[in-house]
Parts: sequence; structure tokens; C-alpha cells
Amino acid sequence: MEHSAARCDECGALHSGGVTCRACFEALLAFENERPAAFGAVHHLTVACYFLQHPRGYNEAALQMWRDLLADALDGRVAPRDLLKRAGRQFRGVRRVRDAQATVPAWWPPKWPITVDAVLRPDESPTIDTYIQRAYEWAGQTRAQLEQQPRVDRMSPPDARHAR
Ligand SMILES: [Zn+2]
Repeated sequence: MEHSAARCDECGALHSGGVTCRACFEALLAFENERPAAFGAVHHLTVACYFLQHPRGYNEAALQMWRDLLADALDGRVAPRDLLKRAGRQFRGVRRVRDAQATVPAWWPPKWPITVDAVLRPDESPTIDTYIQRAYEWAGQTRAQLEQQPRVDRMSPPDARHAR
């Protein structure tokens, strides 16, 4: 039996010092709100990463939206300002279909190389540059982790392949 600090049952992060992922995420949102330069640079990335690593209650369409947003942002296909607009618009749509019964895809990673506590902990105050660097690192690793997963699509009905 392990008696050390609890782990997040969604992203696998160790809650060292009793600090939860949600507490880190709230600290991160407050940090960005107080620093417009940080918000403008990475808010779309940090929100996408947090939801991708805490997928419970979101359907596959919502998760795919965050993945696409991450890829478009990291590849420089869409400007951050436009991504935020797009996410806001899509997220309103997604919230309507948010479903407590939604099951996370079987292949979804239960652990991640970088988790929210490595980006910002509530007792931390990094410089904006450091914070932006951490956010990009988080985004890159989160995207890579998802791309490395074998695509076993067990959620599709057996006849889905005939639907096209
Ligand atoms: Zn977590």
C-alpha cells in the first residue's frame, strides 16, 4: 500500500502538499487574469491542456475540439486571439452536449509527462516569460502524448465503418 500523497485520478499528478490540480488551475487562471501578456500568449493553451488532462464529463467531440485547438496553435495556423474566439464559440456549443454519462475513450492517457502543477502552483510567482515557456512545454508534451496513443476506437458502433 502506498501512503504517500494522493494522486489525481484523472491526470495522475501527485498532489504534493495536498495541492490539487483544480487549485493549481485556479491559481493559473488568476495569474493570467492579472497579467494580460501571459493571458494573450498562452490562455488558449493552458485551458486546452487542463481539459485534455481532465476529460471526465466531456464527450469525444469536445475533446477533439481541444486537440485541434492545441495543434492549430502550436503549428501557428491560427492566431491566439482567433483561437480564443473560436474556443469560446465552440465551447458554448460543447457545454450544451456536456454529458455526465460521457465516458473517456479507452485509449485516453491516464498519465502525462507534464501536469498542471508543473506549470503553476498556488504559492508560486514566476516571471511572465518563465510562465509562458512552461505553458508551451506543457502544450507540446500534452499534444505529443495524445499523438503517441494507439488509436483503438472502441467507442464506435460496429457498423460505423459502413456509414461513409
Ligand atoms: Zn489532475
